[in-house]
Amino acid sequence: MGGPDRARLLVATRSSHKLRELRELLGVRTELIDLDDIVIPDEAIEDGETFDANAAKKARFFCELSGLPTLADDSGIEVDALGGGPGVRTRRYAGENATDEENNVKLLGALNGLAPERRGARYRCALALALPENRGPHGGLPMRFAHGTLEGRIAVAPRGNGGFGYDPIFEPSVEPPGGRTLGEWTPEAKNRISHRGLAARRMSRILTDLGF
Ligand code: IMP
Repeated sequence: MGGPDRARLLVATRSSHKLRELRELLGVRTELIDLDDIVIPDEAIEDGETFDANAAKKARFFCELSGLPTLADDSGIEVDALGGGPGVRTRRYAGENATDEENNVKLLGALNGLAPERRGARYRCALALALPENRGPHGGLPMRFAHGTLEGRIAVAPRGNGGFGYDPIFEPSVEPPGGRTLGEWTPEAKNRISHRGLAARRMSRILTDLGF
């Protein structure tokens, strides 16, 4: 008897950076573990056309494998001048195993010569939670989502070496053109306004309501 098991929440990542960030941002009492903690070698296929679809795929896949409530995130950048790209292909923008620096160089090249008002962009984060209990009539797992967006623009050159990914070339919209990039912000200041910070605070409320 008793309610569903809320002792542990699996975070579908192998990045200790992401796990630490989510642990701080979610602020729940439940123990957060990652894929290496329970030795799951399999990988989910991230071939969805939206951040939601990819986050849901990861959460569902690892929830099925582990039997644990599972949280997954998918995030990326949308650039207006690229029709919203690279979007779900953000991590692989400059090639399958591209480094952050290669991705940044490619994006700066694609926007070369564009004025600040045509360099608009936003980060998006989708968090998906899959619960192993109460399957639907077709066997589907119950899912919950939380989202966050951070508006900004692409700088003309990289500045700062904080953060990760596209942060050295991303100016949040609270900065003037040519102002500080996220690579020059402190992690605490970034978390207060970031797409992942917003999504995580929304997910935190959902988790608390569910008894985590
Ligand atoms: P994912 O691991 O498939 O979700 O890929 C996320 C991609 O978006 C990576 O290439 C990251 O570099 C980029 N990205 C997501 N969030 C951020 C951020 O907060 N700062 C910089 N880059 C980010």
